[in-house]
Amino acid sequence: MLKLYNTLSRKKEPFRPLDAGNVRVYVCGPTVYDFAHIGNARPVIVFDVLYRLLRHLYGPKHVTYVRNITDVDDKINARAAEEHPNLPLNEAIRLVTEKTEKQFHHDMAALGALEPSSEPRATEHIAAMKAMIETLVKRGSAYVAEDHVLFQVAAMADYGKLSGRSLDEMIAGARVEVAPFKKDPMDFVLWKPSKPGEPSWPSPCGIAAPGRPGWHIECSAMAEAHLGQTFDIHGGGIDLVFPHHENEIAQSRCAFGTPIMAQVWMHNGFLQVEGEKMAKSLGNFVTVHELIDTSNFGGSDWPGEAIRFAMLKTHYRQPLDWTVVGLDEAHKTLWEWYGDLEGKAPSDGGVSGPVLDALLDDLNTPKAIAELHKLHSAGHWGALRNALEFLGFSCDRARIGRTASAAGKAQLRFNAEAVDERIEARNAARKAKNFAEADRIRGELEAMGVTLKDAKDPKTGELVTTWEVAR
Ligand code: AMP
Ligand code: ZN
Repeated sequence: MLKLYNTLSRKKEPFRPLDAGNVRVYVCGPTVYDFAHIGNARPVIVFDVLYRLLRHLYGPKHVTYVRNITDVDDKINARAAEEHPNLPLNEAIRLVTEKTEKQFHHDMAALGALEPSSEPRATEHIAAMKAMIETLVKRGSAYVAEDHVLFQVAAMADYGKLSGRSLDEMIAGARVEVAPFKKDPMDFVLWKPSKPGEPSWPSPCGIAAPGRPGWHIECSAMAEAHLGQTFDIHGGGIDLVFPHHENEIAQSRCAFGTPIMAQVWMHNGFLQVEGEKMAKSLGNFVTVHELIDTSNFGGSDWPGEAIRFAMLKTHYRQPLDWTVVGLDEAHKTLWEWYGDLEGKAPSDGGVSGPVLDALLDDLNTPKAIAELHKLHSAGHWGALRNALEFLGFSCDRARIGRTASAAGKAQLRFNAEAVDERIEARNAARKAKNFAEADRIRGELEAMGVTLKDAKDPKTGELVTTWEVAR
């Protein structure tokens, strides 16, 4: 029996699909304006494991997995204007979203993620969104004000159930936009007028000015179009619980008059990098592309399977600290296992009981991996191969090439900025004749596996420091 933790009930519950002949899952997908970062990769990998497990339990033909593409967003508009200033905006947007979508598919395939059953785009569901907005207005759940359509939160008795906050807490915590035309500060936008230069569509509800959808309505409309009014599992990162998923529930339930939108709400914990929140401004922003690609970043060619394994070592609901050391360890383990599996056939028994049991317990992948280690130690090669393949691993050494230099280069790329900063500090210390400090920094770098070489530039006589990573 599969048990899943449900954010809605805050409990682990036995999973019973509404229709075992068609188990339906919706996961909020990427906003396509830039390379996916490794935080974005987490829900893709986590829900890929769930998808594989459901296919195993109910049969591949009886699971529908929808992951949308968000292609209407301010960040996309900004990127389009920046990259293609001379093109009409619509064309520029199309170029940005098509390129990003391709990159996303390439990167997620490298991580061993199966393609979802469908990947609907927001721009292809504008009519469905407008129809839903008109229904919400007719049913008294939404109202028109100053060319906007707003969802009226007070009209829904149990709004806030998913995130478990009171309205007061939400107002305090969510930095909601207070607009004079809102009846209540918590009311959220379903449709708004487009500003000059923004993409626009003819508006619903008799509004003359052309407009664009708010953020949340797209997922309600796409989920209905591809899965129906109610379905089994809705997933995404924990950051989406409020307001995105709370508002999806409000829209769908009020439009369809249903007691639920999805039965089970699943959320992956957040990923941070080397102990810090990942952010462009902190310089620790890691994209999947730069980890896996050999061509652009001086050979940081980590195999996607190592990234997948490193991720699955942490339970999906826990926060995950992404480190290059953890990635390297994951790679080492797979390299060893795949070597031992060479020439060894799968066993007849399918995926082994203890591995499956771990996954059935709310996708306990760290427990499943502990079971893999046991199979390895016991030399149960067939069962190890079965279980690895079940989890989306190739068991093929040729696909996860491990050379000291490749891994070393990845490390080098990863820490290059930090190393350069330390070298600068060391040179400054030497200039100030603080040799103790200079030696201390050299020692610190050596502990990181970085060897410095000082040489005088023969022309200028200036000291030049180069460095390499020994592994
Ligand atoms: P976005 O493209 O920002 O809409 O995010 C796509 C998906 O990635 C959503 O399910 C987010 O919740 C998830 N996500 C974004 N950042 C992180 C992170 N640092 N850790 C885990 N999940 C994330
Ligand atoms: Zn969504």
